[in-house]
Amino acid sequence: MNLKEKIRIIENFPQPGVRFKDITTLLKDGEAYQEAINRMVERLRHMEIDLIAGPEARGFVVGAPLAYALGIGFVPVRKSGKLPADVVETTYNLEYGESALAIHRDAIQPGQRVLVADDLLATGGTISAAIDLVKQLGGEVVGTAFFIELTYLNGRDKLPDCPVFTLVQY
Ligand code: 5GP
Repeated sequence: MNLKEKIRIIENFPQPGVRFKDITTLLKDGEAYQEAINRMVERLRHMEIDLIAGPEARGFVVGAPLAYALGIGFVPVRKSGKLPADVVETTYNLEYGESALAIHRDAIQPGQRVLVADDLLATGGTISAAIDLVKQLGGEVVGTAFFIELTYLNGRDKLPDCPVFTLVQY
């Protein structure tokens, strides 16, 4: 199956000049969604991973089914102000502005091996912020996983210490 064909390009969203990769067309296609998760699971199943962490909202759509398939836990990384218990936070630059992410302080135990997942790697700002939070809690980041990589933005260069798994590249 060609997963790239399942992703819709929206011109000039969220601002002029951006060619937004819309994964909702892939997600609503059950076979394509399952295929994307299964392909990623194949690459991850031989790694030792204790937990998957993913930033809202599309990181949940990728990270949670991966965690379920691998039989491990999922940790939500959320925008500031959304998580109910004690958190650690970090601010970061996005492709289109600045934001803050948070994680529950008790979500990860020191030494746990964590894979961080999101739908798309662009500049790497979002995933770096999520990695920072995992590390603040003493977690060991063993890799990152994305459906899509925008190779021309060189986000991979921000992630030199661990393997980066992507299914579709532009
Ligand atoms: P980065 O922080 O790597 O520059 O941008 C990646 C983040 O922005 C991801 O959380 C992703 O969901 C969102 N994002 C940026 N551009 C796109 C896009 O074209 N399509 C989708 N689906 N998400 C995007």
